[in-house]
Amino acid sequence: MLVPETGELRDGHELVVEGDTIREISARPIKLATANVIDCGGRTLMPGLIDSHVHVVLSEVSLRNLESVPLTLMTARAADLMRGMLDRGFTSVRDTGGADWGLKEATDKWLLPGPRLFIAGRAIGPTGGHSDSRRRTDLGMRCQCCNALSFSMGIADGVSEVRRAVREEMRQGCDQVKIMMSGGVASPYDPLDSLQFSADEVAAAVQEAHAFGRYVCAHAYTPQAITRAANAGVRTIEHGNLIDDASARLMADKGMFLVANLVTYFEMKKHAAEYGMNSDMLAKNNLVIEGALKSLEICKRHGIPVAYGTDLLGQLQMAQSEEFTLRAQVLSPAEIIRSATTIGAEVVRMADKLGCLKPGAFADLLVVDGNPLNDLTLLQGQGRHLSVIMKGGRFHKNRLQS
Ligand code: ZN
Ligand code: ZN
Repeated sequence: MLVPETGELRDGHELVVEGDTIREISARPIKLATANVIDCGGRTLMPGLIDSHVHVVLSEVSLRNLESVPLTLMTARAADLMRGMLDRGFTSVRDTGGADWGLKEATDKWLLPGPRLFIAGRAIGPTGGHSDSRRRTDLGMRCQCCNALSFSMGIADGVSEVRRAVREEMRQGCDQVKIMMSGGVASPYDPLDSLQFSADEVAAAVQEAHAFGRYVCAHAYTPQAITRAANAGVRTIEHGNLIDDASARLMADKGMFLVANLVTYFEMKKHAAEYGMNSDMLAKNNLVIEGALKSLEICKRHGIPVAYGTDLLGQLQMAQSEEFTLRAQVLSPAEIIRSATTIGAEVVRMADKLGCLKPGAFADLLVVDGNPLNDLTLLQGQGRHLSVIMKGGRFHKNRLQS
């Protein structure tokens, strides 16, 4: 079995699953009166993977197309995308804008096969920012419920509106509050280095999130946006491609996490034109792609834990597992596996329950045909090399059943 904490394999262990939980792990044979026994036959048992940055309802690379996707179709497409994630071995994902408690409930109850969801509800940003999905010719506000695009994004301006928007997402069951602190690639009008929520607004978001027992994650690319977020008490930075030493030092001091997601920029560069991204978006993409691998080096130097994220939109989600090999240019396989297990579990505040093989943890398990510490491509190929995928003690896939 693979122990992510130490990055080692341990031979000859047995593991007992009871209900949704790992009951026991032992290096000696375990005797039980009644049990279904599965022999992994020399394969590698490891915890299920965690992707800390996904959007299960953003089913189009060109977000504008989501304007014509009704919520019924949005849900059907999300079901398909979530099944794909579970097929690839991702037993937990953190959705940073779009997924709601309905989808969370549906996957918890296996009405839709998919990963455990940690949801943000709508991603909240200021007028004209990364969350503002209106066209330049749209005046006034839009209804926030009738299509997949407005369902995923919220707008708030000023401290009191931010408080209300954050409280509203928490009322609707979010696990983390997502806010916009800088421009984005997939939004056409906001410059990448624009500073979005003001210091007062982000402080209000953090205060309300903490008051409710939640935390804030912030979309931010530039050192200025990262610094503003860090000073206000944001817990995780999403993307962070343009991070520098000073902002990294601040993040390290504050005990923050970076959720990097390299693969989305590489995939957009390869395929975006065919899915309708315009030249402004591609220009922004080129800016952040240069910083992507460098951001991992800077965080490693400063001891900032970096979680595995992908942020792939729609048709590109098939590339979710390519992030493993992209990071291998800078990090060891054990470090990369930790980013998708133990560090991801800390990000969703489920250390010792997810991302590990321990008694008392959820039985989210993979059986891999080989050793991913030697060959990360075993985690690729849409789950082809996974003989078993179990979430919460229930098999999603089992090729070893006799
Ligand atoms: Zn973002
Ligand atoms: Zn995102």
